[in-house]
Amino acid sequence: MKVLVIGGGPGGIQSTKTLKAHNPEIDVTVIRPEPYSVIYCALPYVVEDLVDRQKVRKSDNLITETGATLVKDKAVNVDFENKVVKTELSGNYNYDKLIISTGATPFIPPIDGGELKNVVSVKTESDLDQILECVEKGAEKAVVVGAGNIGIEMSVALKHKGIETYLVEMQDRVVPNMLSKELSKLPEKEIVELGINLKLNVAVDELTGKERVEKVKLSNNESITLAENDMVIMCVGVKPNVEIFKNSPLEIDNDGIKVNEYMETNIEDVYAVGDCTSYISYIDKKPLGGKLATNAVPMAKICAYRILGKNYSYPGFINGAITKCVNWRMGGTGFSEEMARQRGFDIMTAVGETTTRFPMIPGATKVYVKLIAEKNTLRILGAEVVAGESVPQFIDVISFAIQKNSTAYDLFQFSYCAQPFQTFFPASNAIVQAAEKLLNS
Ligand SMILES: Cc1cc2nc3c(=O)[nH]c(=O)nc-3n(C[C@H](O)[C@H](O)[C@H](O)COP(=O)(O)OP(=O)(O)OC[C@H]3O[C@@H](n4cnc5c(N)ncnc54)[C@H](O)[C@@H]3O)c2cc1C
Repeated sequence: MKVLVIGGGPGGIQSTKTLKAHNPEIDVTVIRPEPYSVIYCALPYVVEDLVDRQKVRKSDNLITETGATLVKDKAVNVDFENKVVKTELSGNYNYDKLIISTGATPFIPPIDGGELKNVVSVKTESDLDQILECVEKGAEKAVVVGAGNIGIEMSVALKHKGIETYLVEMQDRVVPNMLSKELSKLPEKEIVELGINLKLNVAVDELTGKERVEKVKLSNNESITLAENDMVIMCVGVKPNVEIFKNSPLEIDNDGIKVNEYMETNIEDVYAVGDCTSYISYIDKKPLGGKLATNAVPMAKICAYRILGKNYSYPGFINGAITKCVNWRMGGTGFSEEMARQRGFDIMTAVGETTTRFPMIPGATKVYVKLIAEKNTLRILGAEVVAGESVPQFIDVISFAIQKNSTAYDLFQFSYCAQPFQTFFPASNAIVQAAEKLLNS
C-alpha cells in the first residue's frame, strides 16, 4: 500500500511514525517544502537567547528513520479521482491513501499596510530570521499585535532583549481565549511591571510607510512611530492551509478540511489531521477550533490506526493548553468562562487558591484554579489556571475529568498526593477546593 502524506509538521510526522511502526511494509512518502521542520513553540526563546537557533530544527531522521521517504517539495494540486498529487518541482506521486496535514498559516488582518516589509508573523524559520535580523540590526521598538500565548511570549522575549515593546490587544484582557478578567489581571500586572506598553481594548487600524512600516495607527487615536529596524509582529491567530484544494470536491469550511471521528474526509481514502482540519468540541460536539500540536498528534495516530485497520476514534477537542508570562504560568482547558457562556451554557464558577509547594518552602508561589461547571448538572466544562509553576499538573487532571464527563462532586472526591516541595499541604488541593465551593454554592 502506498500512503502519501502532505506536510511534515507534528501531524505528518506522527502519522508516518505510527504507520511504519505497526507495518514497515507500507510505502510512506512525506512531502514537505521546508528544508527543516521547526519547533514553533520554542521560537520566542531563540529571540530571547534562551535556546540555540539550531536546536529548534527538527531532525529529518524523525521521518527517514522510520523507513519513510521524505521529499522536500510542495504539493500544488491533487487529482482525487486518479489519486495523484502533483508537486512544484519533482512531478507526480500516486497514492492508495492520502493524509493531508498541511497545517495552518498565521493570519495577517486585512488592514492597510499589512503587506509592508517589517510586518512579520511567528511560525517559520524565515519569520524567525526576519525577527532576529531586526534585533541584530538594533531594533528600538516592536509592536506585537495580539496578547494571546504567542504574543505574550514574544513580547516578553523582545523586552528582555532591551527593545521598547508595545503589546496591542483588542479585547479587555490578556490571554482572552484562556483566562477571564479576574485571573488575567495577574499576568497583566507582570507585563506592565516589566515595562511592556500594554494597550488593551485597542486595535491596530492602519500601518503606514513606503516599504517598511513607519507608523502604527491605533484605534484609540494614538500612533507609534517606528524606525528602520523596528518591526510589527502579528500574533492574531492562524488560518488553515487549504488553498490548493479550493476548487476540488474536498469539503472545507472556514476552519479547514471537514473530518469525521476517524479523520476521514468526504473523499474515500483521503484523510486530514492537525491544524488544516475543521473538527468539533469534545464537550458539546459542536464545531470548535483546536489548532494545537497536542491535538494534531492524537489525530494523526487515529488516522494511521484507521489505515492500519483499527477503528479507534477521536472524540473531539478539549484543548488543554499552557503558556508563560514572566514568572506566572497560565493554562486553560475545556471552555473558559466566557466561551462556556458564548456556547449557551448556564454556568457557575469557583476559584481554588493554594500554593504550589508548602508555603514555607523556597520557590512556593500562589496557584489559582478556576473551575467552570454547568449549573444544573455540575458537569465540569473547563478550567483556568494561573500559578508560578506546576500548571500542567492541574490542567491535565482537569482535562481528564472533562474527558470522563466528571462533575464537581467527582472532583470533590478526587484523590491527590502532597509533599512539601511539590504541592500545597495535604489539607487542601486547589482543584478539590474549587470543586467543594461549587458543591456548596
Ligand atoms: C509560535 C507557535 C507556538 C506554538 N506553541 C504551541 C504549544 O506550546 N503547544 C501546542 O500544542 N501547540 C503549539 N502551537 C501550535 C502547533 O505548532 C500546531 O498546532 C502544530 O504544529 C500543528 O501541526 P500540523 O502538522 O497540523 O501542522 P504544521 O506544523 O503547520 O505543519 C504543516 C506542514 O505542512 C506543510 N505544507 C503546507 N502546505 C503544503 C503543501 N502544499 N505541500 C507540502 N507541504 C505543505 C508545511 O510546510 C508544514 O511542514 C504553536 C504554534 C506556533 C506558530
